[in-house]
Amino acid sequence: GLSWEGRHVTVAGLGVSGVPAAKVLHGLGARVTVVNDGDDARAREQAAELEALGVTVRLGDGATLPEGTDLIVTAPGWKPDKPLFAAAAEAGVDVWGDVELAWRLRGRDGRKAAPWLCVTGTNGKTTTTQMLASILKAAGLRTAAVGNIGVSLLDAVLGDEEYDVLAVELSSYQLHWAPSLRAHSATVLNLAPDHLDWHGSMEAYARDKGRIYEGNRVACVYNVADKATEDLVREADVEEGCRAIGFTLGTPGPSQLGVIDGILVDRAFVENRQKNAQELAEVTDVTPPAPHNIANALAAAALARAFGVPPTAVRDGLRAFTPDAHRIAHVADVDGVAYIDDSKATNTHAAEASLAAYPSIVWIAGGLAKGATFDELVAKSAPRLRGAVLIGADRALIREALARHAPEVPVVDLDRTDTGAMLAAVQEARRLARAGDTVLLAPACASMDMFVNYNQRGDAFAEAVRELA
Ligand code: ADP
Repeated sequence: GLSWEGRHVTVAGLGVSGVPAAKVLHGLGARVTVVNDGDDARAREQAAELEALGVTVRLGDGATLPEGTDLIVTAPGWKPDKPLFAAAAEAGVDVWGDVELAWRLRGRDGRKAAPWLCVTGTNGKTTTTQMLASILKAAGLRTAAVGNIGVSLLDAVLGDEEYDVLAVELSSYQLHWAPSLRAHSATVLNLAPDHLDWHGSMEAYARDKGRIYEGNRVACVYNVADKATEDLVREADVEEGCRAIGFTLGTPGPSQLGVIDGILVDRAFVENRQKNAQELAEVTDVTPPAPHNIANALAAAALARAFGVPPTAVRDGLRAFTPDAHRIAHVADVDGVAYIDDSKATNTHAAEASLAAYPSIVWIAGGLAKGATFDELVAKSAPRLRGAVLIGADRALIREALARHAPEVPVVDLDRTDTGAMLAAVQEARRLARAGDTVLLAPACASMDMFVNYNQRGDAFAEAVRELA
């Protein structure tokens, strides 16, 4: 491995990735300087902790490249157009993200370097990564769901626990800063406009997502229904023998996984040459069995199968999987109406997927739009809408889209941002709903105008529903 002794590494940004990175690099013998834009109480606290170890910290100056820097390790969220990176380019200094650092440090000190199965996409990353880990565990493999999911890759790579394989969720930011990452196999689940302010353009966003396929050894898994993901596979430079594997909600072609008569079927990795398809699981083994979630399960199954996991483990792993909170969570049935919390649907692409899962919906939506437009979402979902209840700062954008594409759908525009607003929204939704309908919180917006985060928004919804019941 690389020698770190005496190397001067500048860590850009304190926080969840910077502090552990600084500690690890310091522990390896590097000379570490942390630079941080902010200078608040939290930053001071973290700085004091690092300084006690002998790390230099510069608060309130994230723009200047420290003298003699050999390498920058940046927090993934730092935008590529920052002056620090311009200075680095000028000086010929490499920039790594937290993922690149973990990738370079894997296998140190005689540890086993577990292969990575990687997942990215605009939506469904966390769910798919967790499904994948569940399947790998069912196969008896030592594994963990790590990365953007909130579990540190550095810990997984350098910790005492040994893994056979890692299920790695990666954000587009992390991929941008991970030039030498080479996955065993990887997937881009879907591609819709998101975080374009950071990447600069849709092309740049797609290019960063596509990095996940570079150098794959066994399989590049793409979404048959999302041609952009297949294009990324075609453009990637992969190891010889690496295969392009598609997943589809329809009947699978050769080298694809798909669905036939309610059964998840694999036509890509068939051991028995007499058969041309391998049954994996039933659609009802997947929770929730919404179409987008079946797609997630197929992507997870494809990665697991690429790693050699048997069909029974795919089934057992999917059965054992339970989604995280606020992702199409069934809260209660009241008067024959189902109340579903998909507070995690924070963009239009996610909301479109959850609206597609129910035939007759009273939709609770709104919040911070983050520059999104709602015409496509509303036009596609209009036939399923019994009614809509709008909350939050940017609700007028959704109201206008409804007026354009679904003028017959009754809309309640709740001009409230107080703590009782969600209860009022749920009461209005109940009034609009008929037996057999679904009241669906799928806001298509961020929550921070009214709530701390999507968790709190979902909790408020569930509480309001329980009050009805
Ligand atoms: P991410 O980690 O990419 O944010 P999650 O698995 O946490 O994704 O799911 C977030 C939300 O995105 C879900 O609540 C659901 O509304 C939606 N979603 C999940 N999977 C998909 C998918 N494959 N396609 C579209 N939307 C999806």
